[in-house]
Amino acid sequence: MKKLSIILSLFILISCANKLEDELTIFTSRQPQLLEPILNEFYQDTGIKVNLLSGNAQVLMERISVEGKDSKADIFMTVDAGVLWQAAERNIFSEVDSNILNTNIPDYLRDANNQWFGFSKRARTIVFSDDQYSASDFSTYEDLSDPKWKGKLCLRTSKKVYNRSLIASMIDSYGFEKTKSVVSGWVSNLATEVFSNDTSALKAVSSGQCGVTIVNTYYLARLLDDPQYDNLRLFWANQKNRGVHVNISGAGIVNTSNNKENAIKLLEYFSSKKAQEFYASAVKEYPVVEGSEINEAIKSWGAFVEDNINVSKLGSLQKEAVFLAQEAGYK
Ligand code: FE
Repeated sequence: MKKLSIILSLFILISCANKLEDELTIFTSRQPQLLEPILNEFYQDTGIKVNLLSGNAQVLMERISVEGKDSKADIFMTVDAGVLWQAAERNIFSEVDSNILNTNIPDYLRDANNQWFGFSKRARTIVFSDDQYSASDFSTYEDLSDPKWKGKLCLRTSKKVYNRSLIASMIDSYGFEKTKSVVSGWVSNLATEVFSNDTSALKAVSSGQCGVTIVNTYYLARLLDDPQYDNLRLFWANQKNRGVHVNISGAGIVNTSNNKENAIKLLEYFSSKKAQEFYASAVKEYPVVEGSEINEAIKSWGAFVEDNINVSKLGSLQKEAVFLAQEAGYK
């Protein structure tokens, strides 16, 4: 035990010694290869080197909490407003006062206390197979609870935060009871057991196992690189009312960081047009900064009306969404 604690203290000493002023460390649940090119650009432009430590978001948050002031993390970057909200609840972030971020990032895509900011948008919408249906068959997420879709709907598990956030956005619009009846309707329309990921749900639609699903658009964009899946069609949900459900990938500055000034520089850099266009394009998501170019492959889906609920609510209503899914029997 004593040996272990000596090794641990040595490790902490070494980590502190390595914490150079012109280096930043991002703890992230995003894949490093998605971020590396933009971080290299940042290094060319500023001389600030950025290290990445990637892993599961919950594990990284726990690690930052446990390590406290010894943590190497300057920035925590992850996907889904629900997770960023949790990180703020756990007091991982510090408030950031930046005119650049406040100007570049719309209010509804960042925390009200500026503890975290969205840097790309992720739209979750309806995808169907044109072997079975056409766009005129669809209207809203709610309509998929109608008995006419019995045995046709495929969904990813409600255990995924993406679906919890979608349910949270419906609770915000319609209240608990109405949302519960929609989700119960989805469950009775399921063609098969829920899937563990969006890509499997899309493949099940393509193969005819079901006719329609709800997924994040970047999964469709990636799958469409393979002509085998070209019967899949995107439909922008709820265009005549609250709009398509939009979530974010985002980041905040860790409150124990010794290098907050440079960390702010990096977040500001992520909100620049150059970084926005590169990043959104590489991950096939949507930029948060108005007027940025989008990925060629997703241009054909056209512009869409988005639900501009403040994404913080996707976090604050998360627990209620989990409870609702349980009550509705959505596994
Ligand atoms: Fe994803």
